[in-house]
Amino acid sequence: MKLGNIELHIISAGRLLLDGGGMFGVIPRPIWEKKMQPDARNRITLSMNCLLIHAGGKHILVETGAGDKMNPKVRDIYGLDGPFLIEGLRAHDLRPEDINIVVNTHLHFDHCGGNTRVENDQVVPTFPNAHYLVQADEFDHAMRPNERDKASYLPENYAPLGAAGMLTLLEGEHIVAPGVELIRVPGHTADMQCVKLEGGGKTAFFFADLVPTTAHLPLPWIMGYDLYPMTTLENKKRWIPEAVREGWLALFAHDARVPAAYVRERDGKWEPEPVTVD
Ligand SMILES: [Zn+2]
Repeated sequence: MKLGNIELHIISAGRLLLDGGGMFGVIPRPIWEKKMQPDARNRITLSMNCLLIHAGGKHILVETGAGDKMNPKVRDIYGLDGPFLIEGLRAHDLRPEDINIVVNTHLHFDHCGGNTRVENDQVVPTFPNAHYLVQADEFDHAMRPNERDKASYLPENYAPLGAAGMLTLLEGEHIVAPGVELIRVPGHTADMQCVKLEGGGKTAFFFADLVPTTAHLPLPWIMGYDLYPMTTLENKKRWIPEAVREGWLALFAHDARVPAAYVRERDGKWEPEPVTVD
């Protein structure tokens, strides 16, 4: 898909199975299972959707999936069947060396695990020529996670980048390239960032974990994992109506069936109208 001079693709970095209760917070299972049927271990099927953006002469990657550093037991817990990111890039004639910028919306493992890989028993950057862009306070938190979220923050995914001087730590809003803007949107974590693309009179908005799937469009459907659910609620009220009103293309980080959609209001409800991006 093109937005003026910006070219946008969606690449899945593979499948992720997460607990349905964790994904839907206060929504009871009899209600959410009508939208997403869980498996025998109560897990629902998600995708780790990454964006490949060509803008301002740069190849920009948003999110890197879970990567391939996890052991078989953990891969089984999360039902990981990737990674497909490098293969996905190859389909666009790109090698890891070709990526100029990597954006992590936040540093949970399913968004940044592909940042690094193992080579000769060493953890090394997967994208050796890239600047990795993360909110500074998200990085600080990720280096000292708490008892509640330390299962999601795995330092091997980002600490080596800091040591190699490849991290650019951001303080709020940041323009990555013409028409590519990062916006701090707290709630899921204190310093998550979303990505807004604008070009040719069109706008696309990557909701990251603010609205991880189309099932999460209704306001009370907020993940149990969120550290600040009331802030998530406020930011859903801020960003979803704007996307509806302005006809933005909404991009969803974890929807396995509908990674991109226009959100329409029908009978007082927000409904996705799926769009094929690639
Ligand atoms: Zn997350």
